[in-house]
Amino acid sequence: LQSIAVVGGGLAGCECALHLAEAGLAVTLFEQKPGRRSPAHISDNLAELVCSNSLRSDESSSGVGMLKAELRALGSRFMAAADACRVPAGKALAVDREAFAAMLTALVASQPRIRRVERNVCGLDDPVLAPFRTPEGTVVIAAGPLASEELSASLAAAVGAEHCYFYDAIAPIVWTHSLDMSVVFRASRYGQEQGDAPGEGDYLNCPMSREEYTAFYTALLEARTVQAHAFESERHFEGCMPIEALAQRGDRTLTFGPLKPVGFVDPRTGRRPWAILQLRAEKANGEACNLVGCQTKLVQSEQARIFRLVPGLEQAEFARYGSMHRNTYVNAPTALTPDLELRAAPGVYLAGQITGVEGYVESAACGLWLGMLLEARAYGRDLPTPPPECALGALLGHLRTPAKRFQPSNVHFGLMPPLDERARKKDRKALYAARAQAAFAAWRAAAGLA
Ligand code: FAD
Repeated sequence: LQSIAVVGGGLAGCECALHLAEAGLAVTLFEQKPGRRSPAHISDNLAELVCSNSLRSDESSSGVGMLKAELRALGSRFMAAADACRVPAGKALAVDREAFAAMLTALVASQPRIRRVERNVCGLDDPVLAPFRTPEGTVVIAAGPLASEELSASLAAAVGAEHCYFYDAIAPIVWTHSLDMSVVFRASRYGQEQGDAPGEGDYLNCPMSREEYTAFYTALLEARTVQAHAFESERHFEGCMPIEALAQRGDRTLTFGPLKPVGFVDPRTGRRPWAILQLRAEKANGEACNLVGCQTKLVQSEQARIFRLVPGLEQAEFARYGSMHRNTYVNAPTALTPDLELRAAPGVYLAGQITGVEGYVESAACGLWLGMLLEARAYGRDLPTPPPECALGALLGHLRTPAKRFQPSNVHFGLMPPLDERARKKDRKALYAARAQAAFAAWRAAAGLA
């Protein structure tokens, strides 16, 4: 049987290593702590939750709630520990972070097939990985968004610098059905001048009068942002500055930048608006769109309040909020095979946030999936991919979907195929959830996992 090295004892690494070991495979787990830590890790334990102690919603009316249910059904140790360490948090699943990390650390320590080695693995060519980079061996890199600099550099060299990112600037995504289409109009910049018929074009556009823009701009200046960790500050690339930071440069910076109105005519007035906020389809089905150029560090409640000041977005429902932080991740659709193996280094797999999933639960899910896949392979079995209608399949689908600039994603219903029926707004979440449950159950049965 294969010997497997897992690099990184975080959420994905622990989940992957525990699954493999319980399936009878020998695992060497390389973890740099406690001798060396990222700037966000403070505990000596494995599976450390570096920020919030919330694993977000536990309700089936959300993508992450569905993902939790699927992980529980697949025997996730991450979910078992979370459920055991739960603290009151309403409809969310929050945990006592120390008890949670201690429980998973003890589980790893008690597993005879896991050998834990303290080591900062310095790259894919680190000599400690040599015994695993053989036809009989496998390497799993689960070093997370704050992977050590040496390892990040080695990964970038392997996949090509243009396919490895170190910073993450995410614009909010809203559901298209929640836009006020009596205000929002479809058009491409200069489209009309180039002969587009009214209503044609790749973008949805929210036109702003001078007064409306001023209200939005003033709110941006006064908004509350998320406090960055010291190591995260001052690392913005010019091309992905937070919108509130751009606003600080002056009241016309946005109207000459991401909110530039040139090339547009508002069909309601027949004139060029003072500013335009553009929305671009996030997926081919157009169900959700992102607010172009609006990457932001605003706290989520402020994002909701301020973007709803924009005409057409007054009732906007957010599929995902914007965020910005240090994040090592690869362009998964290009750099990885569908099985999360590095195209540039066969036998080396990635798991967790470094693949381009985002979030605690998503990272663990990715680790569990890779563990299941490697187990199946080790025993000569096939494991069909979960369908995109369920949460795990939707998350994995994100890693396989090419994008102009691939960005990490939480799991959400917008990653799933659109609903067949003309669902009413208020029924949509329940319909997504019901379909996901059915698809997941059918997949488990077909895969022999039920
Ligand atoms: P990690 O849990 O970070 O595990 C990686 C492990 O690899 C660590 O133990 C690390 O010490 C080790 N390691 C790194 N490099 C090496 C090396 N070269 N050799 C050996 N070991 C190594 N998600 C949320 O859902 N909620 C949040 O509140 C949240 N806050 C975040 C805050 C910050 C500052 C960051 C960076 C991310 C945050 N995330 C959050 C995103 C993400 O969910 C977490 O980072 C999550 O822990 C990722 O899981 P992982 O297993 O991929 O990596």
